[in-house]
Amino acid sequence: MLQTPEHSSPRSPFWWSHTQDGIRLGFTSIGAGSLSLNVGEGGEQNRRDLERHMGLESGALRFLHQVHSADVLDAEAEFPDAVPTGDAWVSAQASQALAIMTADCLPVLFAGRRQDGSPLIGAAHAGRVGLLGGVLENTVAALRERGAEQLTAWIGPAACGRCYEVPQRMVDELAEARPALASMTSWGTPALDLRAEATRVLQEDGAVVVDVFGCTLEDPDLYSHRRSQQEGTPDGRIAGVIWWKP
Ligand SMILES: [Zn+2]
Repeated sequence: MLQTPEHSSPRSPFWWSHTQDGIRLGFTSIGAGSLSLNVGEGGEQNRRDLERHMGLESGALRFLHQVHSADVLDAEAEFPDAVPTGDAWVSAQASQALAIMTADCLPVLFAGRRQDGSPLIGAAHAGRVGLLGGVLENTVAALRERGAEQLTAWIGPAACGRCYEVPQRMVDELAEARPALASMTSWGTPALDLRAEATRVLQEDGAVVVDVFGCTLEDPDLYSHRRSQQEGTPDGRIAGVIWWKP
């Protein structure tokens, strides 16, 4: 099932946001600034400003050290490092605000309910490597292990299948096993459609997929790493965030 929700005004820190049964989620725009501490300017302050906008305490929004893995973390666990390393995480705890950073890769947010009605949330960073490595399947499995039913997955803005140019060799290698990946840029060169493949994977795993859409390369209200390299536009990271309060 595909839905196309309304998008926020570009002045909002959120490019798109949504509330579902007390669970709140969204994807930031460049209006929120870069949420990375390493890419772009003012990441620390931008995080504090976003938390204030979200009605969260300072420091409540939690970020990962993302490494293009397929590793899913339990956000309620104790971590040896202040910023845990992984590319997805899940939580059943109220007021746990999970963030994932992207700038062309797919940000995917998850929400489900246990049989007793209590919410479960998740957030995943799915670039080409993570997607092929199974980060989305692993996130769905982690949520199901914790009792999630009625799982919804929101796929946020990323490089679209008409912009994500790659060598023909890469399309040949990957599309045989995963034909949904094969695409062509709007200028007629080989491309990958990560969104189509992510949709297929998530639907196959029984999730309701909400395609928020948005192309980071085409929409100037979003950060794009590729566009910053090609056209010198400011580099930064948007965040996909999800949280709930009882
Ligand atoms: Zn595009």
